[in-house]
Amino acid sequence: MINIDKIRKDFPILNRTVNDKPLVYFDNAATSQTPQIVIDTIVDYYSNFNANIHRGVHTLSQESTDKYEEARIKIQKHFNAAHAYEIILTSGTTHSINMVASGFETLLQKDDEIIVSALEHHSNIVPWQMLCEKTGAILKVIPMSLDGSLQMDVYHSLVNEKTKVVFCNHVSNALGIVNPIEEIIEKAHLFGAAVLIDGAQATPHIKPDVQALNVDFYVASAHKLCGPTGVGLLYGKKEWLEKLPPYQGGGEMIDTVSFEKTTYAGLPHKFEAGTPNICGGIAFGTALDYMNAVGFENIASYEHDLLEYGTEELLKIEGLRIYGTTVEKTAVISFNVGEIHPYDIGVILDKLGIAVRTGHHCAQPIMDFYKIPGTIRASFSFYNTKEEIDVFITSLKRAVLMLS
Ligand SMILES: *Cc1c(COP(=O)(O)O)cnc(C)c1O
Repeated sequence: MINIDKIRKDFPILNRTVNDKPLVYFDNAATSQTPQIVIDTIVDYYSNFNANIHRGVHTLSQESTDKYEEARIKIQKHFNAAHAYEIILTSGTTHSINMVASGFETLLQKDDEIIVSALEHHSNIVPWQMLCEKTGAILKVIPMSLDGSLQMDVYHSLVNEKTKVVFCNHVSNALGIVNPIEEIIEKAHLFGAAVLIDGAQATPHIKPDVQALNVDFYVASAHKLCGPTGVGLLYGKKEWLEKLPPYQGGGEMIDTVSFEKTTYAGLPHKFEAGTPNICGGIAFGTALDYMNAVGFENIASYEHDLLEYGTEELLKIEGLRIYGTTVEKTAVISFNVGEIHPYDIGVILDKLGIAVRTGHHCAQPIMDFYKIPGTIRASFSFYNTKEEIDVFITSLKRAVLMLS
């Protein structure tokens, strides 16, 4: 069970007002809010432990190294990776995806095939297009259906011996749909293709088990999980991380350096060139502790109630259409009302203290599919309430009245 009064007290920002109205924060799919315990970790780090890691013999350096490596183990446990060195700390999902995509440059040949889903975030489309341009590989797309689900029969016909990599998000950020990643992974593996799952939108709601999924790469960002911005993870199976070349050259990622030849450090350091976001990594660990203490089952069932309630109430508004209507969804509602431009509604909602996202949500192909400029996206978290949804609905009705 979620003790909502207690939880809301953990998030100081929820007390503020916007345009003299209490803040209603429904933009959780873009970034989550930060609990006090994570803020405290950041303050504590810079107040007491700030030092560069791994290289120092002095006490501060050792303490910050210990904290950073403890965070890596927390992340490993959370995702159930077999080894801590399979967790590469990155600046976030986008960085992680680019690392894998650029690594595959050396492993692909002309006419090899890469499969991506039609539901991808731009950060999961563009790096593969760049990779195809460089290698002559061919990009294939798993199409979507009107309800927002992937056409899995087409996927099954797309996978073959030429398929080298398959990329799909676990949950679509634009529509909130949970994709059948188990089926995607299993099929790709029949042909020896690697699968990368973008978990940026799933991880705030679902605790993934990378070993049970048998996934090759899984990526996510801390800032969508109650952690700070600028840090995230790349989980990779040992075999794959060993096959990929390093992404960047620099300090920390080397074993020995001479002008004749440099040898690379082992995992995870091979992929962690330069000084990382030390404080962010440590705070990421705290954020996972916090969310696990709340409990992912509690989070999922509480958010599911919000999703059902919000969907029901929204559908009472005349002319309102929801995009993404499958059963398996996280608490994201993407919609439009009549012919009103989503941006205009977003501006009025902001005047009323409500934060929603409007636009294409970095997923233009989905908008093209529905032939719309964008949507209004309300995304809920476990610290939101039905009362906030009521305020949102009342305000939305006002906005619609003003604009029609
Ligand atoms: C947010 C998001 C990203 C990008 O994450 P960054 O933290 O901006 O790198 C990628 N994919 C999905 C599904 C997302 O929701």
